[in-house]
Amino acid sequence: MTSISARQSIVTLDLEGVLIPEIWIAAAEATGIEALRRTTRDEPDYDVLMGQRLGILAEHGLGMPEITEVIASLTPLDGAAEFLADLRSRTQVVILSDTFEEFARPFMAQLGWPTVLCHRLVVEADGRISQYRLRQPDQKRRAVQAFHSLRYRVIAAGDSYNDTTMLAEADHGFLFRAPERVIAEFPQFPALTGYDELLGAIADILDVDSD
Ligand SMILES: [Mg+2]
Repeated sequence: MTSISARQSIVTLDLEGVLIPEIWIAAAEATGIEALRRTTRDEPDYDVLMGQRLGILAEHGLGMPEITEVIASLTPLDGAAEFLADLRSRTQVVILSDTFEEFARPFMAQLGWPTVLCHRLVVEADGRISQYRLRQPDQKRRAVQAFHSLRYRVIAAGDSYNDTTMLAEADHGFLFRAPERVIAEFPQFPALTGYDELLGAIADILDVDSD
């Protein structure tokens, strides 16, 4: 007779700020285009901000081939690849990011091609990035809900405001290398800074799950 087992676990990880640098900041540094440093802190309307970013790229003649080259010159954060490989040897991991497949791809190559759920750009035949398409709003939280519907216990970690609905929806949520103001605003989530610390915290939860 089959029986319903105890729930298995899955880890959902944010990408930028957790495993790789902030892509737009890094792109600003790599290209020397200061205007690309603007973030949702400077322009809270994401649509306006993305419109500006795509306009700046076009203005500087940067299409998908050039931006791919810039991104390919960037590397994951120190220790990130080792952390992710170790974590993936222990449990299932899915990366939930609000970046775009095209931007994530060079980093995924360096991280051993983990599964990443994110958004997508619209690239014209001449390489120009004309538009972006969000796969769905609040996709990080929706993914955690979906994993719950598959009877997974979800352990989540992220560094910023766009992770907090994911952390709240998860069974265990951690802030990782979050700015002070995010830590202060969301004291319910333990705030960790080292990969060893995060790995240890997740391993403790996995051990309890398997009891
Ligand atoms: Mg982040």
